[in-house]
Amino acid sequence: MKYIIVTGGVMSGLGKGITTASIGRNLKNKGYKVTAIKIDPYINIDAGTMSPFQHGEVFVLKDGGEVDLDLGNYERFLDTELTREHNLTTGKVYQSVILKERRGEYLGKTVQIIPHITNEIKDRIRKVAAKSGADVCLVEVGGTVGDIESMPFLEAVRQMHREEPKGDLAFVHVTLVPMDPQGDQKTKPTQHSVKELRELGLTPHVIVTRCKEPLLDSTISKISLFCDVPEEAVISAHDAKDIYEVPIMMEKEGLTDYLMKLMNLQSDSVDTAWAQMVDRMHNLKGKVNIGIVGKYTHLEDSYLSISASIKHAAIDCGVNYCTTWINAESFEKDPSLVATLSKYDGILVPGGFGERGVEGKIMAIRYARENDIPYLGLCLGMQLSVIEFARHVSGLENANSTEFDENTPYPVIDILPEQENVVDMGATMRLGDYEADLKSGSLAECVYGCPKIIERHRHRYEVNPNFVDRIEEKGMVFSGKNRNRMEIAEIPGKKFFFGSQFHPEFKSRPGRPSPPFRAFVEAMMSSERSNS
Ligand code: GLN
Repeated sequence: MKYIIVTGGVMSGLGKGITTASIGRNLKNKGYKVTAIKIDPYINIDAGTMSPFQHGEVFVLKDGGEVDLDLGNYERFLDTELTREHNLTTGKVYQSVILKERRGEYLGKTVQIIPHITNEIKDRIRKVAAKSGADVCLVEVGGTVGDIESMPFLEAVRQMHREEPKGDLAFVHVTLVPMDPQGDQKTKPTQHSVKELRELGLTPHVIVTRCKEPLLDSTISKISLFCDVPEEAVISAHDAKDIYEVPIMMEKEGLTDYLMKLMNLQSDSVDTAWAQMVDRMHNLKGKVNIGIVGKYTHLEDSYLSISASIKHAAIDCGVNYCTTWINAESFEKDPSLVATLSKYDGILVPGGFGERGVEGKIMAIRYARENDIPYLGLCLGMQLSVIEFARHVSGLENANSTEFDENTPYPVIDILPEQENVVDMGATMRLGDYEADLKSGSLAECVYGCPKIIERHRHRYEVNPNFVDRIEEKGMVFSGKNRNRMEIAEIPGKKFFFGSQFHPEFKSRPGRPSPPFRAFVEAMMSSERSNS
């Protein structure tokens, strides 16, 4: 097993996750099996209980793991499926050490950060790497070097460096090279952060520097001299137009070749699928405009996988796209604003929790349905389309979800039976992969092109089976089911009206878009043609 450990210096938000994913993708292109682990030094056991507003989207894995959004980037760049073990948090590490202590596994010992916590960290990294069957395991240490929280993790990877055979573990340090007011590239922050790393006993093999413009030769020499790395190991990660260009840029910068040399990896194979996808991305024609009606509209990270899925679908369809994030509450304050939705070729309502903005989203869905604008509803967006239909077509006045109105006369969306006695909030939703059978001849079957699908879930509420007949009578069809559980709602005869209880956005990949997203973009393209 080869390990590449990615650390970050100077400040957060430099794109360590994309750097990690890009290194992985380039090694995969050379024919290696690559896996990735994200270390999050927070005390939460997982990201499931964190607000997308603070921490970006909660990504859901096939096994139901609710994890950091970087794992979404790994899955998309590496075209792989990871498990919850690939996201290591301080919470998970301490929880298992404390449980072991209670079981008496350290009997007689004083349990300490070194060696017990660091051993637990190393064990977990090595087990996950071995289980994945990969040739190369990337480990991204979240946070910035110098943070108190990440100390035990950095100490653990320092120990690993000594323990693994020489050449099997490399450190990549991601830093920032800012420009001074005169426009000169400054290396001091990088020098300081490498110094900080050295104080912890870690010596970077490669320094990846984020910068606005490509690094000047003089800047490279200076970093090489002061940080004691060869010039070819100083990589310029200047601003790219699109994150999907980063692997190509890093390849050109010689990062893959350098890492392979360092780790004694040889390969002549080249997979060009990624480069072809990026080429297609540069040759898109026409444009579709998508209005996304949600709650966290000022933070794109909160819906990262949705943006990625639209992008994959648009690239595959060869069309440009523009997404506008619309705050659902604006419609509640001024209902006349709903008519502004007419300028979009498609409307999407994403998943969500809590009452805020719900009525505004329902107004948007009604507008989409009545004006036959292609509509894609994801999880909450599907539930709300059922409520809208029940209220305005099936005549079930004040129909609602019991999540928002416990006393609704028509609880068309209700708590999952197995959720009724759930008290703990962490990892207790209906999570991860579940199957659905698709109705023959339905839009769903046409979208997926097969009778059975597996998609990822994250919800506590569902369509109440007692109302299915009354809703279907009026024309909405539940075309995807998991036994008695409604997984897909569609309205036949529309250009495209499709809602899923699951989150198709978690399985979309560059070059292999999620079927509902692709069908949504296609519907927008044809409706755009028929409108013009
Ligand atoms: N709040 C809804 C539920 O729990 C929808 C969840 C979601 O959109 N992820 O069922």
